[in-house]
Amino acid sequence: MIRSTLLWISENDWCKNTLPRYGFVRRAVRRFMPGETLEDALQAARAMADGHGISALITFLGENVADRAEAREVSRHYVHTAEAIAASGLDVELSIKPTHLGLDLGLDVAEENIRRLTEAATARGNWVWLDMEYSRYVDATLDLYRAIRADHPRFGICLQSYLHRTPADLESLIPLGPAIRLVKGAYAEPPDIALPVKADVDQAFFDQAVRMLAPDAREAGVRVGLATHDARMIRRVNQWAEANGVGPDAYEYQMLYGIADGEQRRLARESRGVRVLISYGAHWFPWYVRRLAERPANIGFVLRSLLPR
Ligand SMILES: Cc1cc2nc3c(=O)[nH]c(=O)nc-3n(C[C@H](O)[C@H](O)[C@H](O)COP(=O)(O)OP(=O)(O)OC[C@H]3O[C@@H](n4cnc5c(N)ncnc54)[C@H](O)[C@@H]3O)c2cc1C
Repeated sequence: MIRSTLLWISENDWCKNTLPRYGFVRRAVRRFMPGETLEDALQAARAMADGHGISALITFLGENVADRAEAREVSRHYVHTAEAIAASGLDVELSIKPTHLGLDLGLDVAEENIRRLTEAATARGNWVWLDMEYSRYVDATLDLYRAIRADHPRFGICLQSYLHRTPADLESLIPLGPAIRLVKGAYAEPPDIALPVKADVDQAFFDQAVRMLAPDAREAGVRVGLATHDARMIRRVNQWAEANGVGPDAYEYQMLYGIADGEQRRLARESRGVRVLISYGAHWFPWYVRRLAERPANIGFVLRSLLPR
């Protein structure tokens, strides 16, 4: 109930335009976002690398861009970001949303914008990951992915365990040997599209993680990113890997900035691959409310930021 209300708020235009103006909402978001600028994100990435040996991903927040010029501007911003990362010498990869780069305006628009930034990043030896949004975008996102990946091997895709279709999508991608980030899924979807019960989503995530680590997937060269903060899941996958002769270098964990920091550091201390996604930008509201929906206890942080300091 709370989750579906929050997911409704994340999409509501009035909430998107009004709530971010309130100081207490802006203060609460800082827990998940070091700041609104690229410099803020790179500074946080440097602190995590220097302090804890943790690598990063960064994303410029925004989605459902309805204007061609704005989508092109987002692409140019990412080109500049790729240059700034190369100059910084940090291990920071890019994570991008198809609708931020114009998918609502047409596949051709998004492809041109994503190709531009992917060329700039991969020419500098970096990686770009394509996020997965609502289920209505999955076919188009996979089409975009296949087209661009044909020319740029350092281009990854996200798959969502909660979707009924994901096992089939995974099977069709594995022979290509791509980089795949597995997530449980963050959007409101009906039960004919996505598993409605959390325990079933967890089991699907585990099954798909194991599938990505199977011998044929490893031979094909699949790069495995397991994006979860679920400590029990992490233990379960690690135990399975150990029992099946799969070393820790065969996969990495990906988490969000400000969430499960202790687990991030523990994994890094164990010399496991861990990469933290740092978000920045002015358009943080829908993204932020999805983080609240993932764990309604986070609303406590919003309420506490109402108190006078
Ligand atoms: C790097 C990264 C990239 C992602 N990209 C996408 C994407 O492209 N598309 C997409 O649909 N989803 C994406 N997600 C979100 C993902 O789908 C899940 O919604 C999210 O990760 C929560 O699931 P979980 O497995 O981490 O934890 P859950 O199983 O939901 O919870 C397990 C535990 O993790 C902790 N936890 C989880 N979420 C939070 C939170 N928000 N705040 C505080 N604690 C929390 C809590 O301790 C909780 O008990 C991404 C997540 C990560 C980490």
